[in-house]
Amino acid sequence: MKWYQKLHWKIIIGMILGLGWGILASVMGWQQFTIDWISPWGKIFINMLKLIAVPLVLTSLIVGVASLSDIKKLSRMGGKTILIYLCTTAIAVTIGLLSVNILQPGKSIPKELTDKLQKSYQAKVADKESNAKKAKERGPLQPIVEMVPENIVESAGNNRNMLQVVIVAILFGIALIQIENSKSDQLVSILDNANEVVLKVVDMAMLLAPFGVFSLLANTIVSVAGDDIGQIGELLSALGFYCFVVVLALLLHAGVTFPLIIKFLTPMKLKTFFKGIGPAQLLAFSTSSSGATLPVTMERCEKNLGVEEEVTSFVLPLGSTINMDGTALYQAVAAVFIAQATGIDLTFGNQLTIIFTAVLASVGTVAIPGAGIIMLLIVLEAIGVPSAGIALILGVDRILDMLRTTVNVTGDAAVCVLVANQEGQLGEPHLSDADEPHFVMSRKN
Ligand code: ASP
Repeated sequence: MKWYQKLHWKIIIGMILGLGWGILASVMGWQQFTIDWISPWGKIFINMLKLIAVPLVLTSLIVGVASLSDIKKLSRMGGKTILIYLCTTAIAVTIGLLSVNILQPGKSIPKELTDKLQKSYQAKVADKESNAKKAKERGPLQPIVEMVPENIVESAGNNRNMLQVVIVAILFGIALIQIENSKSDQLVSILDNANEVVLKVVDMAMLLAPFGVFSLLANTIVSVAGDDIGQIGELLSALGFYCFVVVLALLLHAGVTFPLIIKFLTPMKLKTFFKGIGPAQLLAFSTSSSGATLPVTMERCEKNLGVEEEVTSFVLPLGSTINMDGTALYQAVAAVFIAQATGIDLTFGNQLTIIFTAVLASVGTVAIPGAGIIMLLIVLEAIGVPSAGIALILGVDRILDMLRTTVNVTGDAAVCVLVANQEGQLGEPHLSDADEPHFVMSRKN
């Protein structure tokens, strides 16, 4: 197979062309054409991925739980997964805090720029503030209350309710273990077959991936640049140091913490891990949504990295909703950056508060584009920094969102491999066909 026929290369080529088109369209004034004729293909691609998420989680998790045949194993795996997720997120926040405190990007921002940015993003800040207020007004136990749905159709009707779908699937799976085998076997086998079908739909969606990412990137550039492409350059040069610190810290976490986990706590080769998960990372980057990427992350971990369905079906949907290392790290850097730029000194206690609130805020962040900056307001409030400060970083948020989402998805996959290894559920990786969708036109026999 030629290199350019491999899926990850096709996606990379799509991304580069999309970037090029976005820049060209902004320079030539083809924004409306791009919005009318190119953007919809990206939307179709994301819709297809989202369409698969609920059926995939339902079928694979019910089958996964039912095949555990032991509820103790489920609670052990659940406890372990949540603990590892929280630990990796706390490490991410610490890396972010160390980087921003050592490099101090906020100190180099001139006062005029702070004023200018604050003025130009006033309206947007108000919008985010009201969303954050809603999130904050909820009682302390509200997130747990919201995990239990009152109506299954309603929870399956909105991808934001993925945790509810996870709870329903776990309850259903546990109930299946408890009834007679003669009754449960048939149902489990139907769901297992349905799961195979859903995975084929993931393959079909992946055929669209190169075109989808082309369109998504073109659309992102056009909407960030508006009718003035120079604006991106201006913002990047003003906030370049801040972006550099976020990117550096993200790279440190993705390039040191995860590799250490894979190398020392699992038998998997680093190259195998990154090669296997590559297409999911590229999709996370292009869609800025770990929720939309979930079906692909699940498929790559199961089919290419050799993680048993029992583990992927549980660890990954949970991870896509509660484990956001990239988001938490970014929230820590952004909070301290805003404090530095607005001349507010943070005490050691404040820094500890950031670790605590950023971990919690990232758990509460929805797996969609731009959600991280809303929860950032909660972190800011906890350390007494005015929320209007987010005006400083709103302009570059979309670009950083792509990178932090990639780290979020990589973190989910790394923990998935780790948990699988500890549970004896890590098989041989299959990288030979790792790059191609498994989609075949004919029915397999
Ligand atoms: N876009 C991120 C995700 O879906 C969330 C965020 O940080 O905005 O993982």
